[in-house]
Parts: sequence; C-alpha cells; structure tokens
Amino acid sequence: MIFKDLCIMSSKDRELFYKVAEGISDIFYVLDYHWKFIYLNQEAERYFLVQREAVIGKCIWDVFPQAVHTILYEAVHKAKGSEEKLRFDAPSFSELDVWQAYTIYPGKDYIIILIKDITKRKEEQRLSEEFFMRVFNTGLSMMTIKTLNGRFVDVNKSWLRNTGYHKEEVIGKQESDLDIWASPETRENINHLLQQGPIYNYEVEFKTKEGSNRIGLLSMEEVEIGAVKYYLEAITDVTKQKELEKEMAKLDSLNMIGQMAAGISHEFRNPITTVRGFIQMLSDRKELANIREYFDIIIEEIDRANSIISELLTLSKNKTLNLRRDNINICLNKLFPMIQATAFNDDKDAYLELSDVPDICMDESEIRQLILNLTRNAIEASPSDGKVWISTYQEGNEVVLAIRDEGSGMDPEILSQIGTPFFTTKSDGTGMGLVICYRIAERHNAKIIIDTGAKGTTFLIKFKAIPE
Ligand code: ADP
Ligand code: MG
Repeated sequence: MIFKDLCIMSSKDRELFYKVAEGISDIFYVLDYHWKFIYLNQEAERYFLVQREAVIGKCIWDVFPQAVHTILYEAVHKAKGSEEKLRFDAPSFSELDVWQAYTIYPGKDYIIILIKDITKRKEEQRLSEEFFMRVFNTGLSMMTIKTLNGRFVDVNKSWLRNTGYHKEEVIGKQESDLDIWASPETRENINHLLQQGPIYNYEVEFKTKEGSNRIGLLSMEEVEIGAVKYYLEAITDVTKQKELEKEMAKLDSLNMIGQMAAGISHEFRNPITTVRGFIQMLSDRKELANIREYFDIIIEEIDRANSIISELLTLSKNKTLNLRRDNINICLNKLFPMIQATAFNDDKDAYLELSDVPDICMDESEIRQLILNLTRNAIEASPSDGKVWISTYQEGNEVVLAIRDEGSGMDPEILSQIGTPFFTTKSDGTGMGLVICYRIAERHNAKIIIDTGAKGTTFLIKFKAIPE
C-alpha cells in the first residue's frame, strides 16, 4: 500500500513521515500517474468523507467524477512530468463556498497534493477589499488606481468631480494621454520619489479637463489588489488654501508699506515741499524763461512723488476709518461730473446707471478714492471714443458697484499680479491704485471681483447692504 520511496525509508523515518502527515491539519494525498490514490492522510479522509481502505488503489476521477475538468484536474495533468511545484488558490470542487490553497509536488512516479483551507483568509481579504473600495469611492480626496506603468484602472467620484472628466474618458488611458500634470517634469519627479518608497503630501500642479490649473498634495503608494500590484494615488486639492495664503501675504505686505510710508512721509514731504517752492520761484524769473518747461516737468514730477506718498498713507492699518451709514449713489452723483470731464478730456465717454440700492456702511472719502481709482483705470484702458459705464444695483443682500470699460482686458499673467504694490503696465503709472482699492474694500468688508476679456473689463465691488 505504500509507495516506493517510503519502502526504502528506514522504519524510523517512515514512522516520522506518518506522524507528520497524519498530524498536519491540511489535506494531504498522493496519486500515481494512473491517478490512483497511493496514500491519503486522516484530514483527507475526513474532508472527502471516505475510508482510506476504500479508495487506495482507485482512480481519483472515478471516486470523484465531479473533479474532472476542474482547476485541480487541469493542474495535475500540467504538473505531470514537470519538476516545478505548482501553487494556486481555487474553490473546492466539492463545496463551492470553500476556498483552498493547492500545492502540487510532481515526483517521478507519483504526485503529492497538499490542500489548505483558506476560506477564512479569502473572506477577510474580500472584506478588506470591499472596505477599501468603499473608502475609495466615497473619500473626499481625489483617488486613482493605476497600473505600475501609469494606466488608469479606476478613479473615484471626487477625482472626476475635481477634474471635470467622465469615467469613460479616463479608464484604460495613460496619464500622458490626458495631460494631467501642469508641467512635464511632475511625472518624472513623482517617478523619482516613488523609487524611494511611498510619497506623502508632495505638492503638484494638475490640470482639469477644461485646462485650468489646480494645486494639490499628492500621496501615492503601491497596493496589492487580488494579487496584482497597483499604485494608489490620492490628491487633496489645496488651491483655495494656497490662494488664501497668498492673499494674507499680500495684505501683510500692504500693511508694512503703509507703516513705512507713515514713518517717512513727514521726513520726505518737508524737504520736497521746500524744493517745490524754490523751483516755483525760479520758474517765474524772466531770465530763465527759455528753460521754463523744465521747471514745469520738475514740479509735475514732485507732485507725482507727493501723490504716491499720499496713496501709501491710506494703506496704513492705523488710519482711522470714519464709517457711517450712507448711500453710494449720493457719492457717485457728486463725483460723476468730474469723472465725465476727465473722460471727455481723453476723448472718451462716461455713463452713470444707478438703481435704488440700500445704504451701506462706508467712509465717504475712502469710497470716493475707490471710485476715482477704478474709473481712472477704466478710462485709461479704453480706446479712443470708448465708453465707461458706472452702475449700481442690488443683488441679494449685497450692493454692487460695477465699473465697466471697453479696453482690451487683462491677460492671466497681469491679472495674477493685480493688487501687488507698484505693479503697473503704464509708463507713468504708480501701480498703487488697485492696491489701495483692495485695501479700502477690505476695510469695508467688501469683495472685488474682476471680469475681464477681449471686449473689456468690469470691476465689481460687492458691499454688504444694511438691512432696512
Ligand atoms: P496704475 O493705474 O498706476 O498702473 P493700478 O494699480 O491702478 O496702477 O493698476 C495696475 C495695473 O492693472 C495697470 O497698470 C493695468 O495694467 C491693470 N489694469 C487696471 N485696471 C485695468 C482695466 N480696467 N483694464 C485693463 N487693465 C487694467
Ligand atoms: Mg490706476
């Protein structure tokens, strides 16, 4: 009853063999190449519900016809004559909800089959995969599963929402097909980092389908799903936070400029006023009449320097604000003749379109400056014969002041620098007008929104209305 190799074992070794084979909790049996049972252990008897005396010497496919053409059947046929052991997981041929890990050792005249019950492990794996997929699909982070060479296998809802793609446009595609990264080095950098292991919170710039750039923190690591390795990639969109940070830094720098201006304005204005006085005096002299125009230029420039200092002073945080309940239309009506005159001088036209709006809380002198700065920019941006519209209207609980021009708009590059002190594209500009507008809006708890395109620019200032 015992196969050959066991016959040549010493009786002591044989005893040991039986002890081990009978002691293990795995199913263990041996077939010859006529597929007849040579040996089976106790666990195999228990599992197959047979007595070993009844099956030894019988062909396994006769005893268990249901096993013919199963994975096991194919595997032992494949293993026959080979020298490699074979490992695979498969459901049991007798009970389908039982998962087994098979190890098949082919010998010269016989084949050993070792079977471990892994139903529990499989179930745990299934649960953890199910859990993973649930987290994947409902997570707030943008998540993707990619093959190791960058092909999209799955993307979650948040990823689709944030990038604007449809699932069908993504699955199966290569990263490079979609042009996801804002700069081509990003991919290379990620690959470099991956060589050192998982990546946590690496700042990347990615592109949405419609082409706008977003900033995200990327984390990425290798995961195994169903015995295959993939990359799991998660991106947290931090564009909003980054913008806020920039905004804060800008305000901080404004404050500092204001403080500096307050500190030096006295020291600066006194001498410069003296210089201006002397120049004025000299320019009246008859013998200097031939260089009169130089004096005019000097005085103009001194006035400009003075006005920069005055503008800087408005930036100081400590400047007291004189907030009162007032209506912005009153202020606009007062200023309009002056705005119109400026426009006419420049061969342009200005229109006022006011609707009844609720009062707001405002400092009149600051609002006046805000209106003048914005209309001056609008007039300067307009072409000859261009029109500038100044309008007010109510939108929910907000009072909106809109200043629209027919200029050629602003490029994104310029738009991103707007509000930076001293940024100007004009040869005689100070680059302080909008900085001051932002400061005034901030002090009034108002928002500035810019809508710009090839047909012109509209500045919208949104104030909180005082409830009736
Ligand atoms: P300045 O007018 O002295 O240049 P501002 O702070 O008022 O400084 O404006 C900064 C820059 O913003 C301008 O130089 C211009 O390039 C741009 N800008 C402002 N308003 C407009 C507008 N209505 N249309 C086009 N560009 C504008
Ligand atoms: Mg200006």
